[in-house]
Parts: sequence; structure tokens; C-alpha cells
Amino acid sequence: MSSRRVDDLVARDRASIAEAQKIRFFPFAPVAADGAHVIDADGRRLLDFTAGWAVANTGYGNARVRAAILAEVERGSYAGVVSAAIEPPIVLAERLLELTALRRPSKVWFGHSGSDANEALARLVRRATGRSRIITFNGAYHGSTDGSAALSGHTAQARWAASDHAARLPFPDAYRAPGENAAAEEASILELLERRLGFDWPPSDTAALLVEPIQSDGGILAPSPAFLRGLERICRDHDILLAVDEVKVGLGRTGEWFGWQESGIEPDLVVLGKALGAGLPLSAIVGPSEILDVEPSIALFTTAGNPIACAAALGGLDAIEHERLVTNAALVGAKLAAKLRRMAAGRALTGDVRGRGLVLGVELVRDLATKEPADRETAKVCYRAAQLGLAVFYVGMRSNVLEITPPLCLTVAEAEEGVEILGQAIDDVTAGRVPDGALDGFAGW
Ligand SMILES: *Cc1c(COP(=O)(O)O)cnc(C)c1O
Repeated sequence: MSSRRVDDLVARDRASIAEAQKIRFFPFAPVAADGAHVIDADGRRLLDFTAGWAVANTGYGNARVRAAILAEVERGSYAGVVSAAIEPPIVLAERLLELTALRRPSKVWFGHSGSDANEALARLVRRATGRSRIITFNGAYHGSTDGSAALSGHTAQARWAASDHAARLPFPDAYRAPGENAAAEEASILELLERRLGFDWPPSDTAALLVEPIQSDGGILAPSPAFLRGLERICRDHDILLAVDEVKVGLGRTGEWFGWQESGIEPDLVVLGKALGAGLPLSAIVGPSEILDVEPSIALFTTAGNPIACAAALGGLDAIEHERLVTNAALVGAKLAAKLRRMAAGRALTGDVRGRGLVLGVELVRDLATKEPADRETAKVCYRAAQLGLAVFYVGMRSNVLEITPPLCLTVAEAEEGVEILGQAIDDVTAGRVPDGALDGFAGW
């Protein structure tokens, strides 16, 4: 599929960049991008249903983001917030406090990645409450540092993640719920939580519960609003902090500013990352002052709150607001989901289409009745889709869920084009047109 320049970059990347930080799905060497498209080294345009793992919410090359970054570079600015009061992070913090509108007087902590933010969150809530346990979920992905991996419950990390003070609950999966009764599964998980709090997870030693409003790397699992409200009620009853990890789904992707808003819950702490820096590395915790102020200098990074990254974030928030990207995510997302369902209905490999806004999942199975995960086929679909002009990755505890997270500026025509290609890729894989050997070095995770 690829001609010389992509092949050349892929070979040099193989020789020089650590495998430890790669998940590769197909020979991919983007050199430029605009809107919802990336252009590879051979000049091919690919429609991007990944947004670079949900980073490019504003679309690539956004004029507001670019102008904000250039202005900050021109001004020349100081490293970060550790030892100075500088304007871009202050303005961004004020903006995030306004957007999240948390119920208690709050502040903002800045980091570089979702991982460092979740790790800092764990340290801060333990220190502030004097309690050690944090309740998380199977299938959760909270990051790749030791502290954040310990909070996670993803199969991809099972081989090495240390399980620190995290206590895990099952996460609802409506497609695979026992007896196909999603509501009953959710109720039983809430019951289990109550039981454990009354037994071996005493609230007196439980600091917080950390949840993704839509579990994304776990396989695009969106629990019902009632489930999130149930978690909130139990947290309130037992005086446990409720923290939401919005690193992937926050900032407009669900069709609302934040993923928790659909359920009407009021979290105590919010973690942001990925799209926050609009392409530059930036993460944040928004949470109660009494927690984020618990002790000076116990969770700091030299370049955190970097003014160029914060300027990019402000440009990104402006773009999301003025270009009506939250509404677009809701409208185009609904149309995209409907098109995906129509595409899936006629095919034997497509077991389920789920999610909301522009965070959608398509689960592939070998048998619609047994739901046997079609993991190899899923990897081949990603490989084939790229050959046909669509970039899409997969996620899931069984490596069989296509993750559809395009830039929020996606148009209806682009949504149509993407679904068309996906349908073709699935048909090509079903017909055996993608050889096993194609996945050499591109088998994903
Ligand atoms: C990606 C992700 C993280 C980790 O973010 P990094 O920037 O990779 O450190 C944490 N939580 C969720 C929900 C994520 O999707």
C-alpha cells in the first residue's frame, strides 16, 4: 500500500524509536494534517477517525490554536507555574473552573499527561483524607506511570502494573451483561460496592472512587446515567470523594462539555488530558482547594503549566466554543452512529455499535450468538481501512472494538465516507483479502 517515503519512515522508526512506547496498527507516517484529514509521507489523504487517540478535538491545523501558540512564542515566556505567577496557566485555570463548575471551592493542578494527573490525584486525595484505598474498575485505563497504571484495570497492563492501593469493581458491559440484562448487571455492581464498603473496604480507609464516564480503552463501554448516579449516591453516603477521568471523553467529545454531564452527577474531582493541550502535552486536575492545597510542593513538575501549552489549550477551548464543536459532536455523532448501525446490520462480523457523540465503538465478533471476540479480524480491519483511506484504531479488553473518535469538526459527508470505507474494509477481511502476514509488526495491542 505504501510507496517509498512511508516505508522509509516506518523502517527508520523501527530502528530508532522504542517499542516500549508503541501500539502500531498499520504503516502510518503522517507528515501534515488539516481538519479531519491527515496527509502521509507519500501524499495520501486519510480521513482520521482516531484524532490521534482523541487529542485533535478541534481538528488539525485549527487557526485559533495556531494563532494562540504563535502569539505566546512571540511574547517569549517563562517555564511553568512552580515558582512564578504567569498569565496563560492562570487564565486557563480560571476558564477550567468556570467550565467544570464544581460544587465546592476548587482549584486547578497542571501536569503533562493523563498518567501524571491520575497519579497526582491518587497522592493528593490520600494525603488530604488520610485514607489509602481508591476504588477503580476492571477495564479502566488511567495511565502508564506506576501510580496511574496501579489505578487501571486493563488487560494490556496486567503483566506489569503493580496494584498499589486500588480496589477494583467490575464495569458494566451492556453487550455482554449476564442474561443480556444491562440494568440488572449495573444494579448488582452497585450492590457489590455497598457490600464491600460494609466489609473489607471500610469507608474509613477509602479516599476516592475514580471512574471513566465512558470506559474507552476498555472497549467504549457507556454505563447508564442511573449507574453513575448510583455511584455518586454511594460515595456521598459514605463520604468518599468522586473523581471522574475525562482524559479521553472530556472537552466536547460526548456532545456535552464533559462526559459526566449526561447523568447529572456532580463529581468532586475531574481529570483532563489528551485534547486539553490541543496537540501539546498538558493535563489538569480540577478539584477542591482543600485537596489540591493539602501540602506545598508534593506533586510538581518543572515545565507543568507551560505557557505555550496553556496558550494552545486556551486557543483550543476558544475553537470548541466558537466553532460550536460540542453541538457538532452531538449532531454528527448521532448521524455517524445511525450510519454505523445500518452498516453493521448487514454484516456477520459486527456485533455491536455503541457510545455517544463522537466517541463510538464497533465490537467485532466471529459469531453473533456466542459473541466470540474477533480480535485478529479487528486488527485486519484497521490495517485494511488504512489502505482504503481511513485511519481507525481498536481498543477493548478483548482487542476487538474499533474506536471511533474523529476530530469534533467532522462533517456529515466525512462521516458517510468513513462508514463506507469501514464497511468495505470489513467485507474485505471477511472475504480473506487481508493476509495474516500483513499484521507483522502491526497487530495493535
Ligand atoms: C489516555 C488516557 C489516560 C492517560 O493519558 P496519557 O496522556 O497517555 O498519560 C488516562 N485516562 C484515560 C481515560 C485515557 O484515555
